[in-house]
Amino acid sequence: MRYSIVSILGQALRGNRDWKPVWREPTPKAAYDAIIVGGGGHGLATAYYLAKNHNLTNIAVVEKSHLGSGNVGRNTTIIRSNYLLPGNTPFYEHSLKLWEGLEQDINYNAMVSQRGVLNLYHSDSQRDAYARRGNAMRLLGIDADLLDREGVRKLYPFLDFDNARFPIQGGLLQKRGGSVRHDAVAWGYARAADQRGVDLIQNCEVTGIRIDGGRVTGVDTTRGFIGAKKVGLACAGNSSRVAAMAGLKLPIESHVLQAFVSEGVKPLIPGVVTFGAGHFYISQSNKGGLVFGGGLDGYNSYAQRGNLPIVEDVAEEAMALMPMVGRLRVVRSWGGIMDMSMDGSPIIDKTPIDGLYLNAGWCYGGFKATPASGFCFAHTIARNEPHKLNAAYRLDRFRTGRLIDEKGAGAQPNLQ
Ligand SMILES: Cc1cc2nc3c(=O)[nH]c(=O)nc-3n(C[C@H](O)[C@H](O)[C@H](O)COP(=O)(O)OP(=O)(O)OC[C@H]3O[C@@H](n4cnc5c(N)ncnc54)[C@H](O)[C@@H]3O)c2cc1C
Repeated sequence: MRYSIVSILGQALRGNRDWKPVWREPTPKAAYDAIIVGGGGHGLATAYYLAKNHNLTNIAVVEKSHLGSGNVGRNTTIIRSNYLLPGNTPFYEHSLKLWEGLEQDINYNAMVSQRGVLNLYHSDSQRDAYARRGNAMRLLGIDADLLDREGVRKLYPFLDFDNARFPIQGGLLQKRGGSVRHDAVAWGYARAADQRGVDLIQNCEVTGIRIDGGRVTGVDTTRGFIGAKKVGLACAGNSSRVAAMAGLKLPIESHVLQAFVSEGVKPLIPGVVTFGAGHFYISQSNKGGLVFGGGLDGYNSYAQRGNLPIVEDVAEEAMALMPMVGRLRVVRSWGGIMDMSMDGSPIIDKTPIDGLYLNAGWCYGGFKATPASGFCFAHTIARNEPHKLNAAYRLDRFRTGRLIDEKGAGAQPNLQ
């Protein structure tokens, strides 16, 4: 079923009785050409691009819960490509370009909204770092505008410019950045992959990875063994646990990240704003709630819930930036498990085991990467070699020293 204005009007006239389920609920086959473990954004996008770009349709996505139950449905929906380092910038810009055409491509309204992402700076050295980043982006043809204090005031007059502990000096704006409705990304990719014949198997946890003579042969699951010539792992926060089933120890730690949403208010925040004197960011959803978050909880965990100290920390940063949020009520908060790599950048690569591929290490920035990650991971699986866009995201870079340390924080996941 193709979605269009005609189909919506037709359904309305028929009392909306003929809508079809958005994807099938297939019984797992005995074997597939490829299995993707993890029905989050990256796993579903990978399956879609495997089918669309590489004509591989005898494939399955195996998800332990329901599709979109992980970080793809828990994030704060921000997309941008304002990166500095060579390994990152072209990859994230490719992702932003795919976002720009995604809804037409998958025939699904993902509410892609390029409302602008503004990173505030509060010191001369931070301004210089942002100027350098903006210049690096512009040299690659990516949009970036360095705003002074008055430029920021025009966009966000309600920020605390005058009495703040960390006075705002300006900001780096990427106008093409913005937000996308996160669940719709999971559902849209799932529907588009299903339409191309991909089996989406929910409530099917992978409990083992079978290897014979150094080659992967399939996965053990709670619904039995499923054979596969190739297996791609896209398990985000659970990457280390699943990779351990194949005897791999990953350079990844799992940490909790929380997010918050307030009661709905009239349009207030036009884009996305990040506070430069701490770790706080905020935007407004289309329903009116302010969506915001801060840093990691700061301890290793596989629990999808957070703790109170970060709630307090995030509230303090919100008040430091825009004191009027103190009048709002928070209606929901939640946590997700982040796959924090040692240099803050992802891994999209083959593993030492033939036929086993890894997509992991997204830290708290993997949502914006979803389209490019799926595109590159599909290429890597289908061709058995990385695409040039993910050539730097190698698993062995932690051994060879070719790190992509965007933040310059060193091998300390909790600071990335
Ligand atoms: C609070 C929060 C805010 C964030 N904000 C942003 C943001 O604004 N912008 C941004 O770019 N990124 C953001 N992120 C990060 C982003 O959400 C993640 O990096 C990204 O979603 C991870 O990829 P995914 O969608 O494939 O993960 P997931 O949706 O977590 O998918 C992994 C899937 O693997 C499944 N799985 C795990 N183990 C198994 C198993 N054994 N068998 C079968 N299936 C298994 C899980 O159930 C899960 O569904 C945020 C994350 C959080 C938690």
